Amino acid sequence: MTYHSGRHFLQLPGPTNTPARVLRAMSKATIDHRGPEFAELTSRLLEGTRRLFRTEHDVFIHPASGSGAWEAAIVNTLSEGDRVVSFEQGFFAHSWARVAGRFGIDVVQVAWDPRIGVTPEAVLGQLEADPSIKAVLVVHNETSTGVTTDIESIGAAMRASGHPAMLFVDAVSSLAVTDLQHDAWGIDVTVTGSQKGMMLPPGLSLLAVSPRAMQAHASATLPRSYWDWDDQKAFNERGFFPYTPATNLLFGMEEALAMLEEEGIDHVFARHDLFGRATRAAVHTWGLEIVARNESEASRAATAVLVPEGHDADAVRRLILDRFDMSLGTGLGPFKGKAFRIGHLGDLNALQLMGTLAGVEMGLQLTGVPCEAGGVAAAMDILMKGDAV
Ligand SMILES: *Cc1c(COP(=O)(O)O)cnc(C)c1O
Repeated sequence: MTYHSGRHFLQLPGPTNTPARVLRAMSKATIDHRGPEFAELTSRLLEGTRRLFRTEHDVFIHPASGSGAWEAAIVNTLSEGDRVVSFEQGFFAHSWARVAGRFGIDVVQVAWDPRIGVTPEAVLGQLEADPSIKAVLVVHNETSTGVTTDIESIGAAMRASGHPAMLFVDAVSSLAVTDLQHDAWGIDVTVTGSQKGMMLPPGLSLLAVSPRAMQAHASATLPRSYWDWDDQKAFNERGFFPYTPATNLLFGMEEALAMLEEEGIDHVFARHDLFGRATRAAVHTWGLEIVARNESEASRAATAVLVPEGHDADAVRRLILDRFDMSLGTGLGPFKGKAFRIGHLGDLNALQLMGTLAGVEMGLQLTGVPCEAGGVAAAMDILMKGDAV
């Protein structure tokens, strides 16, 4: 039987399910983006964004997906021929490096095992070899592999080294999922998108920028117009944008920020931690392997599940969509066909996670992937022990 009633399960690692509260907030009538009501909205949103990034410095909100924030980070701070370092963490790290390359940045691509997080030692190794490096690009949670990198340690090591390179962090699938502290960790530019932990539809990109990166901006010569932080800052200070902003998405953003603050950001992190652990308990009980090599680096946002040789991960996804109306993430890059990804981030409670895992367990059995039963029960066990949700 297929099912056409009830709600679609959007269990991708982004876009995530948009809460009804956010959808309702977005359905308000659009207002004048140069009017006094708008100016107040802008200043509340910039304040909320600062709290989310844990920064007291500049933040920017652009109408774009996460990739737009990648570009904004590059064109605002660098000049043609500047050298940056990127590690082959996976699909998203590679895509960010490609954006830099297209702007004439000299990208040092460091070979890396995508199943483990980038280490501070590896970053320092690159910096020691080359005093001219302008920036290090790191993905906090590489969504294609479900591997998290310890940004705090990398930031501390970079500062202790005295090397002037800036630290750029992609937090697209980690912000509002797991702890990230832009100022305290010494990050220069943090980028994110609206459609993951922030529970909004796609269409907003956000950045936090350190004073050091703002200084780099003053002398950076890459061409920029739409993304220019000077224009943006001048308008934002008066409560406006240099262009027509995505007004209704901003209404949704205010509601989403309110939801995160009502739940309490530490509770949000604890909930994601619990759901990640419950998901991995299910996968291990099925007898399947996840991409993340170390439990301590396994993502709180998404779990990439490897299917055994001779089986097609996309066939499992297809059956689950057809039979149970649930979307899972496809394998990206070298994991195409070899892994599927379960998104467990954003607006999600324990029973929604149970439904998700039950759908996966049925899908595995129905497609004949060799696996043990009982994954859902193992996840239930973790959820019953967790007092966070
Ligand atoms: C989703 C995602 C992006 C951005 O993708 P867009 O499709 O441009 O929003 C970037 N980095 C990571 C780690 C992501 O998960």
